[in-house]
Amino acid sequence: MDLSKSLSESDGTVSGMTSSVFNEVLKSNPYFAAGGGLMLLGTGLAVARLTVMKGATFVTRQMLVDLEIPSKDKSYLWFLEWMAQYKHRTSRHLSVETNYTQHDNGAVSTKFSLVPGPGKHLIRYKGAYMLVTRERSGKMIDMTNGTPFETVKLTTLYRDRFLFPDLLDEAKKLALKAREGKTVIFTSWGQDWRPFGQPRTKRLLESVVLDSGIKDEILLDVKDFLSSGEWYHKRGIPYRRGYLLYGPPGSGKTSFIQALAGDLDYNICILNLSESNLTDDRLNHLMNNIPERSILLLEDIDAAFNKRDQTEEKGYTAGVTFSGLLNALDGVASAEECITFMTTNHPEKLDPALLRPGRIDFKKLINNASQFQVKQMFLRFYENENELCEEFINKFARLGLNASNVSTAQLQGLFVYNKRDPKSAIEMVETLKNPNTHQ
Ligand code: ADP
Repeated sequence: MDLSKSLSESDGTVSGMTSSVFNEVLKSNPYFAAGGGLMLLGTGLAVARLTVMKGATFVTRQMLVDLEIPSKDKSYLWFLEWMAQYKHRTSRHLSVETNYTQHDNGAVSTKFSLVPGPGKHLIRYKGAYMLVTRERSGKMIDMTNGTPFETVKLTTLYRDRFLFPDLLDEAKKLALKAREGKTVIFTSWGQDWRPFGQPRTKRLLESVVLDSGIKDEILLDVKDFLSSGEWYHKRGIPYRRGYLLYGPPGSGKTSFIQALAGDLDYNICILNLSESNLTDDRLNHLMNNIPERSILLLEDIDAAFNKRDQTEEKGYTAGVTFSGLLNALDGVASAEECITFMTTNHPEKLDPALLRPGRIDFKKLINNASQFQVKQMFLRFYENENELCEEFINKFARLGLNASNVSTAQLQGLFVYNKRDPKSAIEMVETLKNPNTHQ
């Protein structure tokens, strides 16, 4: 190395001399030269890689569009159900959703739907490809019902983004079609309302036999309430109405409310106040978040009164308290109409504070079978058998069964047992004195 030459080429300052010496060392030393080259090459590649990645993200952002549907959203289940039935898809991860329904007669029916499971799926919708990613958050849990948070993400080309609303609309229509002519029963699931089993075929009002005029009276009142929205809003009164049906078990209270919901094309949200895990807070939350077009049915309302003393003594117990129920009833603040039906077999246990207008505005006794009901039910089961019907009623009265001590549920049991044989039903009237003998 010619140090004197590099020194003579420097500008004479100390730094100038140092850098020219350094350059000379680099140039003349083959190891340094090769290392420098590699370093430059590595840096160049890293920069290029970063640029390509940024470019790809940019292009992705510009060309693709995402739609995220969180599991909290209504469309979530609609979309999964739609996709389960959609033909143009490739899915390798499926998950099963089992719907289990127990019918009034005790039979159980089960339906499995294979919905897309967590993972990636490709669908072709109206000529556009969409990537569907269903993700389950391992860490985040929905504290209200203990299930993991999930999302479904749809990704497609930016130019096809207009297909998203079409797709969601189709999914919604499919879900609503499945419910057409049906009543959805919602039950509480943590803090949420969830459909209980598959939507049920509407129960016909004619199939519930109440004493003369009762059905019409209630139906008229409910319809009048539903058409009075403006009247309530103008006067600033909460748009809600509470109904109480009381009477012995098996007299058709719940069946009537289900049939009424079907007739009005409403769904039903059922809460049983005797459930021990139902707290005041949950009740309040649930009552303020009722799915639209639903009747709220609070069963066994007297249960809240059993708990009252217990709560005052112990300070804290599970189950709904009297004040919790009153607060929830008073606090329902909904822009939509709110129809609450309450049932009890023990009206004597109810506190007068509950019976105030605004909480319960309409109450009706639904009693054991009257003669009118016996006749109606007999003729519903055995059409046009008028003479046998007379015979049945006479025997019924002779046995002292007329004093409203047989429930309509017991009568139904007897007629179902003797499905095609009214004479046998007449022979077995005695068994109504002891309802378990013919079962
Ligand atoms: P409640 O709510 O008064 O205890 P439910 O409505 O649960 O009575 O009736 C129990 C069963 O008896 C149901 O299967 C229902 O079909 C039948 N039932 C009871 N009362 C009647 C009625 N008045 N008309 C028709 N069916 C009735």
